[in-house]
Amino acid sequence: MIVMKFGGTSNRDADAMANVLRIITSHLAERPVVVISAIANATNDLEESARTAASGDAATGEAIVTRFYARHLALVDALVKDSSRAGIVTGAFSGYIKELTTLLHGLAILRELTPRTMDAVCSYGERFSSRIIAAGLQESGVDAVWVDAKEFMLTDSNFGKALPVMDAVTSNLARVVVPLLERRQVPVTQGFIGVTASGAYTTMGRESSDFSAAIIGAAMDADRVQIWTDVDGILTADPRMVPDVRKVRRMSFDEAFELSYFGAKVLHPNTMLPLLDKNIPVEIRNSRRKEGTGTLIDQRGAAPAGVQAVKSISFSADVTVISVSPRKRTNQYLFWEGVFSVLSRSEIDVRSVTTSEYRIAFAIAGAYESSTVIPRLEEVGQVAVFPGQASLCIVGSGLREWAGFAGRVFGALTGLKTSLVAYGASGLNMTVVVERRSLEEALLRLHVEFFGSPAKGGEFDVPFN
Ligand code: ADP
Ligand code: ASP
Ligand code: MG
Repeated sequence: MIVMKFGGTSNRDADAMANVLRIITSHLAERPVVVISAIANATNDLEESARTAASGDAATGEAIVTRFYARHLALVDALVKDSSRAGIVTGAFSGYIKELTTLLHGLAILRELTPRTMDAVCSYGERFSSRIIAAGLQESGVDAVWVDAKEFMLTDSNFGKALPVMDAVTSNLARVVVPLLERRQVPVTQGFIGVTASGAYTTMGRESSDFSAAIIGAAMDADRVQIWTDVDGILTADPRMVPDVRKVRRMSFDEAFELSYFGAKVLHPNTMLPLLDKNIPVEIRNSRRKEGTGTLIDQRGAAPAGVQAVKSISFSADVTVISVSPRKRTNQYLFWEGVFSVLSRSEIDVRSVTTSEYRIAFAIAGAYESSTVIPRLEEVGQVAVFPGQASLCIVGSGLREWAGFAGRVFGALTGLKTSLVAYGASGLNMTVVVERRSLEEALLRLHVEFFGSPAKGGEFDVPFN
């Protein structure tokens, strides 16, 4: 069996969703389990409705949800012609809308938005969209069954960034979804959402439908997991920033993890984690060009030993560099411990670290000037904060063994200020932090350095450099 995940970009409007239905139909022989994200922007709208209601403005919150509801009703109208089938879907929708409106009223009264309530509100995006896809497939004669993720995706209760309880998810899927496949039915479920042991909806973080697909793929021993999106595969850079990108044919799990962790939106970084051990490959495919070959991510996707290649460059546009030095030079290891214990208590993901004798600097995503972490770090040492930075992560194979690699990076960045460099921990990446206003220039220059001028175009495979 395979898992097919379709993101918001593939579910933009009725035409795009009709195309999704055709893609699924052309893969029936591979026994797909279908994972659907919310339609484009729906999760943003739901988040905004919750925030607006919690600020006391229930009417505007409700108006956002009314537009969200109307968008979905129009999609049912366009894609589900059979009136009794459409009636089942719209009946479920009107129940959802009543619940959602009640939630928004509660938020407006309490004027408090907990992560738990935010997850409950956001869960509706995927519940609406997946019902349309299931009904649309039935309309085309496919024996599709809508499956509520609540029936199998058990998570912890870390609302907003929940993690699955894999053993339970595996046995739930065996009970709920495997029998459907055995009957040659097509299960259609939701990405992004899960459920706690006490029955509350959770979410696994923004963009995490990719992760949901991977969890299902790993739990069901899928032959592969397909992520259908709006680009031809993993590209040598974000095409919104670099016009002449090339497609990467193959990558390893580790490379894909580094790339997405350091900012490439195309894949949620957790996606690779459940699939690594079982070596279940991931394909990134373009739903607008279904004949394309996409990018294959698997264990053997690294360049062969001895081959050095840059594969892609990702970035985070909003990074803060913080440096800390001790007020008194006593035991260096106690100082390191103090710094890292503050970061761990504050639940901060450090992107890159560099040290000098008695000074440590690290880059974190987001703005931290007014964060509570700064006074906590000041208890450990003297702190300097450098806001307005951006990080670039150059990902590839064999970078540590590549004589002259660092020289090429710094040569390309000549004249630009570099506030932090991290290299050597994995051999898979080099991270360079520059001023935010130089980000685009730095990215374009690095792209030309490693992937050539616009004329080169096309697919990119190792050995390349
Ligand atoms: P979906 O809605 O299908 O989950 P996303 O918007 O989350 O789609 O991810 C696809 C987008 O990721 C692309 O449109 C592209 O702009 C962006 N992206 C960023 N970096 C890369 C990269 N290296 N390769 C491909 N796409 C990238
Ligand atoms: N709908 C969710 C989001 O927009 C999950 C996803 O698209 O992967 O973040
Ligand atoms: Mg996405």
